Amino acid sequence: MFKFHSIRSRLTVNFLAIIAAVMIITSLFLYNQLERFFVNNMLDSLTRTGIEAGESAAGLLRNPIDITLRLSAHADSVSRLAGARVIFVNSQMEVIADSVRVGGLLGQTLDREEIATALAGEVGSSVLVSELTGQRVVQVAVPILGEGSDVIGVVFLSGSLHELYGGDQMPGILGRLRNYLLLAMLLAAAVVGGGSVLLARRFTGPLEVLAKAARRMGEGKLDQQIVVSSRDEIGYLAEQLNIMAARLNYYTSSLKHFASNVSHELRTPLASLSLITKSMKDYDMEPEQRKEFLDDLDQELDRLIALVHDLLELTKLEEGIKRTVTFCLAELLSEMAAQLTPRFERQDVRLVTDLPPLPVWVDGSPLLIRQAVHNLLDNALNYTSAGGWIRISVWLEHRWTGVKIEDTGIGIPEKDLPNLFERFYRVEQARTREAGGTGLGLAIVKETILAHGGKIWVESKEGAGSAFYFTLPLHRSVNNN
Ligand code: ADP
Repeated sequence: MFKFHSIRSRLTVNFLAIIAAVMIITSLFLYNQLERFFVNNMLDSLTRTGIEAGESAAGLLRNPIDITLRLSAHADSVSRLAGARVIFVNSQMEVIADSVRVGGLLGQTLDREEIATALAGEVGSSVLVSELTGQRVVQVAVPILGEGSDVIGVVFLSGSLHELYGGDQMPGILGRLRNYLLLAMLLAAAVVGGGSVLLARRFTGPLEVLAKAARRMGEGKLDQQIVVSSRDEIGYLAEQLNIMAARLNYYTSSLKHFASNVSHELRTPLASLSLITKSMKDYDMEPEQRKEFLDDLDQELDRLIALVHDLLELTKLEEGIKRTVTFCLAELLSEMAAQLTPRFERQDVRLVTDLPPLPVWVDGSPLLIRQAVHNLLDNALNYTSAGGWIRISVWLEHRWTGVKIEDTGIGIPEKDLPNLFERFYRVEQARTREAGGTGLGLAIVKETILAHGGKIWVESKEGAGSAFYFTLPLHRSVNNN
């Protein structure tokens, strides 16, 4: 179907307009040049003939006997040669010979501008439409010079441009040219029209494929791949659409996954809460038993609050870091260690630090980094038994600084390591829930480090302890040596 607003139709119309414009301009130019060339040629040739005829006429005029007869014969022969009407005029503008015998102008006064010019010694010429024949004619008047170079008469030649312009029946050269040009224009339009339709189809075909695919993607069918083999902009667009669809697909499925995880996580504490409140409502309880129930309720509420808190943290991290400051990482870690030592000591776990003596400047949010390190230390403490130790160490590279938090705890099975930083991923469901974890701690750490432009990884051996590593880019303008 021909849709007027489609690229195909617009390309075709534009191509046709361009070709028509080019052809019209070329034709006008050609037409004009040819007309001028032909007319000038005729003028030149008539002038030359006129000069020659004038010279011979000057000879004839010297002998006045039978002058009209001889001049008329001369006019006839010149007329046949030149294919033009030839008239001889004396210095009083009287026609003394005319190649047109019947109905000619012999004896009449020919008061014309060209003849006046010729009598003044110049060649007079004009191009006009003949009153008699209605045809265009070229007229030339050449002076006939006497012995003393005075003007004794004029040769007046009138040549028809019939060959150029044609008549009623026969088209002239220009007419035929116009027809050829018109035909060429029609042919070019047909070729260009057909060509542009084919060309446009070649271009718009893949675009239609893209448009259909984009519509399907818009409808939510994101698991499709567009097959466009071209290596041009359209191919690139298809590639980008494929990447976009794959990303969207990934995000949607992880969002679904996340939402189902969140509901699952909320269900357990909410079910407990409901059970506790129902029991307290339905049964008469001793104050002690009531207190036990209230303690459970409190615990479940804490778990819910922790979950909502962690979820909020993650959402905030997705929006990126809002306020960035330059701070000393070593100082932050040493402060944290000092604050946390009493808690570690209470559990008989030693907290040691191995920090560089010089400042380690990094850019970012000290609050978020503190939270991330806190999560790592919390985990380390949770999974390390009494008598063990935890060490925070910092190392420096060219443009990076790295932090290692290692413990002598229970370690993590190798199969769990690749998924450890995923949201709600737990090594053993029981062991973290019991420890009060939300399963979001490491996901928050990872998002924080990534938001700061760093990397994070873990090394661990079951039963032998774990080591969590992360890096951060050093502050640029300050020399961190
Ligand atoms: P949570 O907030 O529930 O602790 P995390 O995301 O922090 O969840 O941890 C994910 C899993 O990794 C948990 O199941 C936990 O058992 C395990 N884990 C994290 N850190 C350590 C560690 N230092 N030693 C052993 N296991 C760990």
